[in-house]
Amino acid sequence: MKSIAVIGAGIVGICSAYFLKKSGFRVTLIDREDPGTMTSFGHACSFADYANVPVNYPGLIWDVPKMLLKKDGPLAVDFFYILKNIPWALSFLKNCKKEKVEEIASSLTNLLKHSQISYDEIFKEVNVQEYISHEENLYLFDTKKSLDNYEYANVIRKNNSVKFRNLNKEEVKDLEPNIADVYYAGQLFTGSRHTTNPLAISTKIFEKFLELGGIYIKQNVTNLIQKENNIEIYLGNKKINFDKMIVCAGAWSNKIANLLGENFPLDTERGYHILFNTNEKLIKRPVAWSESGFYLIQIHDGVRAAGTVEIAGINKEPNLKRIKMIERQSRKVLPQLGEIKSTWMGRRPTLPDSLPIIGESSKNKNIIYAFGHQHIGWTLGAITGKIITTITNGKKPNINIEAYSPNRF
Ligand SMILES: Cc1cc2nc3c(=O)[nH]c(=O)nc-3n(C[C@H](O)[C@H](O)[C@H](O)COP(=O)(O)OP(=O)(O)OC[C@H]3O[C@@H](n4cnc5c(N)ncnc54)[C@H](O)[C@@H]3O)c2cc1C
Repeated sequence: MKSIAVIGAGIVGICSAYFLKKSGFRVTLIDREDPGTMTSFGHACSFADYANVPVNYPGLIWDVPKMLLKKDGPLAVDFFYILKNIPWALSFLKNCKKEKVEEIASSLTNLLKHSQISYDEIFKEVNVQEYISHEENLYLFDTKKSLDNYEYANVIRKNNSVKFRNLNKEEVKDLEPNIADVYYAGQLFTGSRHTTNPLAISTKIFEKFLELGGIYIKQNVTNLIQKENNIEIYLGNKKINFDKMIVCAGAWSNKIANLLGENFPLDTERGYHILFNTNEKLIKRPVAWSESGFYLIQIHDGVRAAGTVEIAGINKEPNLKRIKMIERQSRKVLPQLGEIKSTWMGRRPTLPDSLPIIGESSKNKNIIYAFGHQHIGWTLGAITGKIITTITNGKKPNINIEAYSPNRF
């Protein structure tokens, strides 16, 4: 029986470890933090099977200055950081050409089409129904202009058979009467679902992995040595040999790849959340606010406002101005919100073409990469784990995974 190390116990690593264990491998999941506590902890809770529209879009380059100048806009940039990372920014912009955006959207759809069914395979064995809600996600447009600007996204969704329904003000009000009268119109994502407790879901899948005989080691991966037929992983002052290694370290994955002499254009889109106290249930579904690019979600311990994008690298301290902005806008949309219970910053792992890397390394034997899931890593955890398991078994996945190849850069 082959021994497999999975590096990173975020949702991608946990689902990969689960499916690998089910498939009969000896699996060790390694993370320096507790499972599910990094980026996979604080997101916007959506199983966003509809989210096939990449952040790259035609005309983005012209909109960036407007977005940055806009008070309370969704995007913030550390210019010193960008100046040091111009090749990444240029590569990101190169992927904003219309044909390229359509290609990316179709490749994302390819994965998203299988995301729900892959999770349901896990959920048949891991009972998490109490943490899942089927109230469909709602997108709120602040003005007619933002609704009109969204037309390109509607076309991409329609072209890929992603279903949604446009709502007028009255229809929005019927669904979510507590939302303040600050919006112009809405859109509902047909059949979408969300979680009310992401950490509980990650923990339940992780516990099932342990129950099946999986091993967990809480250690930092500090070095890797590629051997003839295996890989030696250094964990603090210990080293362990494995037949194969799967790299699922989210925004930190390139640091692991660097240890093997490989380099990928992985950067991070930082995002924030605020958890507000509430004495009553204020909203039924995730409500996205177009003006500032975040979602409001009623979760088990309050209302979470999660989202926005900040380009400032992996190491910089959280930006308190972004937290203040999210608070201000959240209270505008939902004035009944109570005091702030906690705040959080997470790091979305993002490649310049907004597609993840899922596949075998061509440079290093016995290494498989699975990272770069940007805004939809929570949604794509299970399908990624399934693909990784098929590849580890030496088989070809049912889905064409060429677009996610590590060799495309
Ligand atoms: C504000 C916000 C909102 C979002 N909303 C959604 C949403 O609604 N729906 C959705 O689908 N996605 C959403 N996302 C995206 C999603 O959260 C991420 O894509 C996903 O969590 C990435 O999962 P991961 O397993 O790749 O990474 P992570 O969860 O970050 O896990 C990586 C793990 O690797 C470990 N690690 C790194 N280096 C090492 C090392 N050297 N040694 C040991 N361990 C190491 C880390 O400790 C970490 O636990 C959102 C993200 C943000 C920030």
